[in-house]
Amino acid sequence: MPDERIVVAGAGGFIGGHLVRSLLEEHASVVGVDMKPLDEWHQLDPRAENRRLELSDLDACREAVAGTTRVFNLAADMGGMGFIENNKALCMLSVLINTHLLMAAREHQVERYFFASSACVYPDYRQDTPDNPGLREADAYPAMPEDGYGWEKLFSERMCRHFGEDFGLATRVARYHNVYGPHGTWSGGREKAPAAICRKVAEAKRSGAREIEIWGDGEQTRSFMYVDDCVLGTRLLTASEVTEPLNLGSSEMVTINQLVDIVEDIAGVRFRRAYDLDAPKGVRGRSSDNALIADRLGWEPSITLRDGLERTYAWIHDEVAALRPAAAA
Ligand code: NAD
Repeated sequence: MPDERIVVAGAGGFIGGHLVRSLLEEHASVVGVDMKPLDEWHQLDPRAENRRLELSDLDACREAVAGTTRVFNLAADMGGMGFIENNKALCMLSVLINTHLLMAAREHQVERYFFASSACVYPDYRQDTPDNPGLREADAYPAMPEDGYGWEKLFSERMCRHFGEDFGLATRVARYHNVYGPHGTWSGGREKAPAAICRKVAEAKRSGAREIEIWGDGEQTRSFMYVDDCVLGTRLLTASEVTEPLNLGSSEMVTINQLVDIVEDIAGVRFRRAYDLDAPKGVRGRSSDNALIADRLGWEPSITLRDGLERTYAWIHDEVAALRPAAAA
């Protein structure tokens, strides 16, 4: 609806920035909110109203949500495995953001509330082999999620459910599985596997190094969703009448070694691989079962890993080239 006023929390981050751009194609009034200074946002679209607010604070959430019809909550303190395994308390503090945004959304009678959950809600015991058949939504219980980050997501999912049941707030929840694409974090310790591999390959190519480091033995499996699929799925789910959490992820499962093969093909190089068996590596096997989303929305992510990585590698390659002069050229 053109007269909607929409808030995106976490707009200064990777997926939030893409979501703002996508919403602006149809809606005049989009408010992007993030705690970071504006010059640190991954993308800053001047057509949106961009605001710096610390959303773990209830009054800041009230200010962000006042006068709006839809809230997308993508704000969280998060990162790849290296970050979430070493920052469990920080990850759990994101519970304040979702709790206060829900309270503010209820007070201001917003029409729709979306929460970005994660595949990290699924228990370890369903992900201990590389040939994971795909996690089904029902697999989240009995609960034993990823310590810290996953518990916060599962708790916040349930809070959304009960704000719906008890207070009539229309909440929607997606469990994102590994999202990647241009404008994502690619260095600094919060990056995830696709961006880290693209960076390592681009840097090695530039410096003339012959070897890249891989976390774990490279045989752990994952699926990776290109950010355009994530944004479209988020919007479709939010507009739908589906109140249960849905997987939003790719079902194209690869090993980390296969991910490296694809990036090396795109870059036209081959490197020796040094496997760091002590590095954080997360679960052994993870992929998304998309039967439920296909049934409920008549849609599922479809951008192939090869296509998405071509666009992502090109972007990270340019970022690496722009930031660092070649060591020896
Ligand atoms: P991101 O880190 O790029 O973006 C999150 C943004 O939230 C950041 O810009 C950060 O500054 C902001 N933020 C954090 N705390 C805040 C606070 N107190 N107040 C205001 N802003 C705050 O992450 P992303 O990859 O864009 O992920 C978006 C959402 O999707 C997160 O909830 C994340 O947990 C979830 N998710 C992402 C992935 C993925 O692969 N990227 C997978 C599963 C779930």
